[in-house]
Amino acid sequence: MPNKRSNRNKTRKYSCPFCEQRLWRLGKSKHNLFYKNAEEIRANTGMTMKKAKLLSIQSSTYLDTNKWIEAFCCPSHGMMWLLISVMKDSYEYRLAEEKDWLQTDKTLDPRVSNPSVSEFTLRMSRKLG
Ligand SMILES: [Zn+2]
Repeated sequence: MPNKRSNRNKTRKYSCPFCEQRLWRLGKSKHNLFYKNAEEIRANTGMTMKKAKLLSIQSSTYLDTNKWIEAFCCPSHGMMWLLISVMKDSYEYRLAEEKDWLQTDKTLDPRVSNPSVSEFTLRMSRKLG
């Protein structure tokens, strides 16, 4: 096997914003962000207004594939939703806010449809098992 030192480790690690513990990915629950007009595209992606306008003309909604809200679990704080932004060589994340949810497809409101703790534990144990 050739020694690929330049091989980038693609695994992104997420830690709890409250206690710094490693978070577990819950997998399926991933909600991409959509923008409905040029101003939203520009504000969220940092592209020029000209380009944003062009994109907004091409389709009624712009899907941002580099930003999404995903469910995670902290061993101490339970389930939480993080807004993840992936950039060229890095990524950042923070707790998702109300305004972030408004940018998603809104198929799910986290305040009413959190998976139950038991369902959660089950998935965790499967993963660890
Ligand atoms: Zn925590």
